[in-house]
Amino acid sequence: MILLDLLFPRRCVSCGRIGKYICSRCFPKIKFIQHQLCPVCTKSAIDGITHPYCRGRYRMDGMFAACHYQGVIKQAIHLLKYRQVSDLVTELSLLLFESYPKTIPKLDLLIPVPLHARREKERGFNQSFLLAKSLGKKLGIPVKNNILKRIRYTKPQADLKREKRLDNIKNVFVCSQNGPLRGKTIGLVDDVATTFATINECASVLKQAGAKKVWGIVLAHG
Ligand SMILES: [Zn+2]
Ligand SMILES: [Zn+2]
Repeated sequence: MILLDLLFPRRCVSCGRIGKYICSRCFPKIKFIQHQLCPVCTKSAIDGITHPYCRGRYRMDGMFAACHYQGVIKQAIHLLKYRQVSDLVTELSLLLFESYPKTIPKLDLLIPVPLHARREKERGFNQSFLLAKSLGKKLGIPVKNNILKRIRYTKPQADLKREKRLDNIKNVFVCSQNGPLRGKTIGLVDDVATTFATINECASVLKQAGAKKVWGIVLAHG
């Protein structure tokens, strides 16, 4: 580890200073989200709890997003995904952990939004799983990576318009087992959520498989 740090020193994703991926000068530039959104209608909602009129049997119960997807955070997530710097996850999960609100109900399980097996193989890891694992360790919540599966290979959501995103994501996810989900409150973890289409679709599949409540926990929204 020390040798690796000498050979490939961590540099700030924003200013390039050696030491951390997000240095102490760039950290204050992170835009933390002050007002959470309802995961169903994406309008402002107290503590991110789904509005009473947006609730539904297979819908999400709430959503927590830590920061806006811009600046330092956008650069960090980009580095994580496309340059495969997986040890950056430690710093990013700390952001989630430190801003994690007390208003989220007690979670039984964390489940990452899965990548298609082909994309995971290309990338070498699922960044959402790494985030979930690191956050789960800090919060003392077990992580299950083998229940929710992505069975269809889709175009990256970021390349599509809103209506197309909803179509693109239909019938993409399945649950391989129901037992571990029955009656459980699940935290669904993702790195970035834009329209919430993906996370809502995952939540619906988890609820159809017996989950009692599903909360989204995402690092960045935008
Ligand atoms: Zn910096
Ligand atoms: Zn709503």
